[in-house]
Amino acid sequence: MVERAQAAWGAWGRLLAEDPAVRAKAAELEALVADNQRAFARAGVYRICAACAAEDSGSCCQEGIERHFHWQHLLINLLLGGNLPPVRQVPRQCFFNGPRGCLLRAKFSICLNHFCPRLRRALGDETCEELVRRASREIWAGYELENAVRAALRRRGWDWEAPAPPPVESASQT
Ligand code: SF4
Repeated sequence: MVERAQAAWGAWGRLLAEDPAVRAKAAELEALVADNQRAFARAGVYRICAACAAEDSGSCCQEGIERHFHWQHLLINLLLGGNLPPVRQVPRQCFFNGPRGCLLRAKFSICLNHFCPRLRRALGDETCEELVRRASREIWAGYELENAVRAALRRRGWDWEAPAPPPVESASQT
């Protein structure tokens, strides 16, 4: 999945980074991500999740969850200037979890809008609802950015849903 995203970035990165619609949507998502991360940190979400992850029972960011994610989302992370880990950083944890938390800039939807009972009890209903609203806006902005990327590629005759990996050389020459 990481290799596929990096191959796609190698093939399409420049054209996506220069596409005005993609740039505009990427800027919107980036601003929301930064604002939401501050709000989640202020509310204590990361502290509570880190404490949970340190316990033997594990956490939501457990090994294997990354199998449910799509490589296209990783391409979006590269577009936002993020890096993808070459290997799992923390044993028995999600591939994208690092020693100091999630390594992704734009998280997957379930990572944003899943509030377990422990988190809900600690935060209270009102804070949870506010964070869910924020998460929904970020997920929607990610969806719009994916649409802009898909459209930019389609204009050049490429389909990012195609099963074959992107043609790195031919794509980058266009
Ligand atoms: S992508 Fe990040 S937030 Fe989501 S499960 Fe993995 S480490 Fe956790």
